[in-house]
Amino acid sequence: MSTNIVERYLVLKNKYRNYDTKYALKRMQAFRLATQELSKKGYEVALEILGSINFGIVEPTSDVDCILLLECDLHKDQGSCPPHCPNVSYVKDEIRKFVTKRLQPEVFNIEYLDTINLKYVEEKIRIEDVLGDETLYCLLFYRNIGRPVNRPLFIPYCDELEENHAFVKEIIPWAAEALEGYLNTNQHRMSFNKYNERIRARGLDLPEGLQQELQSYMDAKGD
Ligand SMILES: [Zn+2]
Repeated sequence: MSTNIVERYLVLKNKYRNYDTKYALKRMQAFRLATQELSKKGYEVALEILGSINFGIVEPTSDVDCILLLECDLHKDQGSCPPHCPNVSYVKDEIRKFVTKRLQPEVFNIEYLDTINLKYVEEKIRIEDVLGDETLYCLLFYRNIGRPVNRPLFIPYCDELEENHAFVKEIIPWAAEALEGYLNTNQHRMSFNKYNERIRARGLDLPEGLQQELQSYMDAKGD
């Protein structure tokens, strides 16, 4: 089952996405505008939003889990900027301020699970040194499980990696394992149940087959 778990996840994600709430859309827009503001100030950033928003179902108080993608010249030789990076600190602060102001009085946390330096990605692709690179694996992995903000900033890199057959051959088993690790937590299981409850509470019928698919998806994790 390992080889097709990514595919099944994507199918499920797309089905849930049909239930996009106004909160989910409003939030996505707030983050999009935040990246546009940063771009005007000379900071090129993008995000991959993970967790509940990624399934279109989100409450005003739900925390946001995300991956930060930025262009950092200070740490060009590192796939991920160190925690003390001034560029990372600055953009995180700006995003928080902008999004909080725009969505007030909603109060929620923005949790950054990882950071990817796109300057590093750009260079690796330019010199054609992509095989075995964990940062590049992560970039493509996050692209598949997340919901992008300011996608044009990094999608050319993803496209280029996806066209590299040797790289794709490498990443498939890696991504399946990473996804199982990401999903195989009690928290995620609980989240899925919560999504279902919320959909039902809002009086929407689950599409035919979704319930079964969800169940088989859960069962498959135990294989
Ligand atoms: Zn940096």
